Amino acid sequence: MNLLDIRNLSIELTTKNGPILVVERVSLTMKEGEVRGLVGESGSGKSILAQAIMGILDDRWIVHADRFHWRNKDLLRLTAQERKAVISQDVAMIFQEPIACLDPTTTVGDQLEEAVPDCQLNGYFWQKGKQRKLAVINLLHKVGIKSHEKCYNSFPHQLTEAFCQRVMIAIALARQPLLLIADEPTAAMESTNQGQIFRLLASLNQLKNMSILLISHDLENVTHWTNTITVMYSGQFVEAGTTEQIFNTPYHPYTKALLDSSPKANVELPPKSRLTTLPGSIPVLQHLPIGCRLGPRCPRAQQVCVKAPTTTNHHGHQVNCHYSLKENY
Ligand code: SF4
Repeated sequence: MNLLDIRNLSIELTTKNGPILVVERVSLTMKEGEVRGLVGESGSGKSILAQAIMGILDDRWIVHADRFHWRNKDLLRLTAQERKAVISQDVAMIFQEPIACLDPTTTVGDQLEEAVPDCQLNGYFWQKGKQRKLAVINLLHKVGIKSHEKCYNSFPHQLTEAFCQRVMIAIALARQPLLLIADEPTAAMESTNQGQIFRLLASLNQLKNMSILLISHDLENVTHWTNTITVMYSGQFVEAGTTEQIFNTPYHPYTKALLDSSPKANVELPPKSRLTTLPGSIPVLQHLPIGCRLGPRCPRAQQVCVKAPTTTNHHGHQVNCHYSLKENY
């Protein structure tokens, strides 16, 4: 069963100069136990999409979609309170700057205790304090923090960034979510810490069958940790498929360019060779190209690309391009 089923989701930002279509007709599904990478350059709308799923966009944003279902419930038909109750029970999100997300004035233990819901505690009220602390210690162990006493009594600034991210994951796990959205969870971390966090997320997926939506700008890195990948560019859906399909046979010129720009995906290149990159940069929101937004940078662009392409599906490998690279394989 699909946990999350989004079809043709568009998100508009209301500004004093008129609305801006920040995310345009993006589709995304998540199954139970799936780890999906959501990949694209900064400014491609990944985080806005995640915030729309969480329902935490403010009044300036208008969300509409052909389908926006969570476990067969139509989220767009629920009231704000009903939606908050559904999402806060089943979905949790971690962000890219863990230290900034934790309260600097409160110990980690207190912040974790606050995250443990009452419904998980049994017995009389005088027993709940002890149970809550045991639940917190259990959560710290789950995210690989063995020295729980030291961590429990520390303030966020006394911990390393990787420890803080583990604490954020522990807070997210407190409600036992079905889906964890990890928005660039290892940005600005050293590679050893990045590996630890990704391994932790992978073990949570395997042991708890927790679905994970892993948001990243690094396609090559994400391929190690995901089953499926969705690629976005400038708010538009680009390509989706299994990780193997995307890595071995990318159909979209943008996905191909992302892979060609990665040294690890080009191991056969002679030393000191130049990596291929697309000319130009991602367009600013105020000056979005019409039709396919990759047009001004795309080596395969033709006149018809001023019309937005429609998505075609080849055995579960979806691509949104008038001149896909499918024939090249
Ligand atoms: S639709 Fe056209 S401009 Fe867009 S990626 Fe495909 S070929 Fe390039």
